Amino acid sequence: MIVDTDRIEAALKEAKEPSEKALSAILKEAEGLKGLSLEDAAWLLKIENPAKLKTLYDRADEIKQRIFGRRIVLFAPLYLSNYCKNACLYCGFRSANKDLPRKALDSGELINEARALEKMGFKRVLLVTGEDPLRGLDYIINSVKTIYGQTGIRIVHVNAPPMGVEGLKELKRSGAAVYQVFQETYHRPTYALVHPAGPKKDYDYRISVMDRALEAGFKDVGIGSLLGLYDSRFDCLSTIAHSRHLFENFGTHAHTISVPRLRPAHGSAIKDGGLAVSDEELKKIVSVYRLSVPSAGVVVSTREPEPLRNFLVHAGASQMSASSRTGPGGYAGATPALEQFSTSDRRSLVEVMASVIAEGGLPSLCTTCYRIGRVGENFTKITSSGGMEKFCQANAVLTLKEYTLDNPPNGRADIFTRAIEKALAEIKDPAMKKEVDRRMEELERGKRDLYL
Ligand code: SF4
Repeated sequence: MIVDTDRIEAALKEAKEPSEKALSAILKEAEGLKGLSLEDAAWLLKIENPAKLKTLYDRADEIKQRIFGRRIVLFAPLYLSNYCKNACLYCGFRSANKDLPRKALDSGELINEARALEKMGFKRVLLVTGEDPLRGLDYIINSVKTIYGQTGIRIVHVNAPPMGVEGLKELKRSGAAVYQVFQETYHRPTYALVHPAGPKKDYDYRISVMDRALEAGFKDVGIGSLLGLYDSRFDCLSTIAHSRHLFENFGTHAHTISVPRLRPAHGSAIKDGGLAVSDEELKKIVSVYRLSVPSAGVVVSTREPEPLRNFLVHAGASQMSASSRTGPGGYAGATPALEQFSTSDRRSLVEVMASVIAEGGLPSLCTTCYRIGRVGENFTKITSSGGMEKFCQANAVLTLKEYTLDNPPNGRADIFTRAIEKALAEIKDPAMKKEVDRRMEELERGKRDLYL
């Protein structure tokens, strides 16, 4: 069994708002960076008292800073196609949505999209596509290779439908860095209800895909639940249990855990927003993920509005998408009507970066770890021992410097310069400082893509 849902239901039934003493004991446990039991996580999700919530968010922020420093990694999704055989009730791409003009990028359009993102300053993209036999594995693999071969994008993550081990091996060979599939909900009856037709109906094939991906050679995988389909606390604990299953069986936790909340989508069959997840619930979930799976990148999308995203910088989030368009052709082709769901934060990359800086964070376009083999078990070990923070800080500074040289942030230059100086001053290890200084000079002289 990948996720023991009986145990999760029992944990939720037993959980109460913790007393101050119980809260301190749980948070003390989290300081060891080994995560929390599902039962402790369930208690944290019950907190309603504002002072205790603040303590929870502050502790999640501290743990995030010990693991990854102040950096927030930024990326953008790139939608390949909105053709889909599935009938997911919450999605605008579902097969029954006859109003949606269908579109699949050809290779020229894909290059235009990736170059448009590159021009904005992005180095990391997440490919997203519907489930469609005509645009299946070969199409996805060709897309990954095209991006690496024809553009300056340095890392491609792939959100693609579940497949068998052989397909996953081929996908891995194409250079896909992180393989991402969300279970959407771990609650079987709800899963069956919202996935009435198409290959995605198969709960077990989907939940087992990360085992196959790791068997196939992927080192980094991304998981998540679509919050609002079912009780978000159940899905939060199930996602943690899923990550723990991967750790127990493959030595690596989920590389990323995403926190998408259900959003309105044109042509979706769920009109009322599902089981609405409040902002406070989402903040708790982000914090609980951080404390329960400290090594994971906790990823917040542009589904969320700017003020909430700003808050989550201080509550355990470590990655954010920015400037996202959620339909094929959205960057170079400007086709908002094709979007999979509506986004709340429509700001440009530079605006999001400036806002991260204003919040005390450090925007990062780093793509280092995958490219130098700090992945999987190795990544989990380094991060869980607190050894990643110094690399994250150094690489955030280097990528921020490169960004400002190539995309001068007109009108905001001072903000970026001060952020770089402050982050440089925070590097205390003299050897690391020397290496970063040397690379900063090389960047000034025109070299690019420097990291540690
Ligand atoms: S050093 Fe590794 S963990 Fe840190 S930001 Fe870069 S790629 Fe991510």
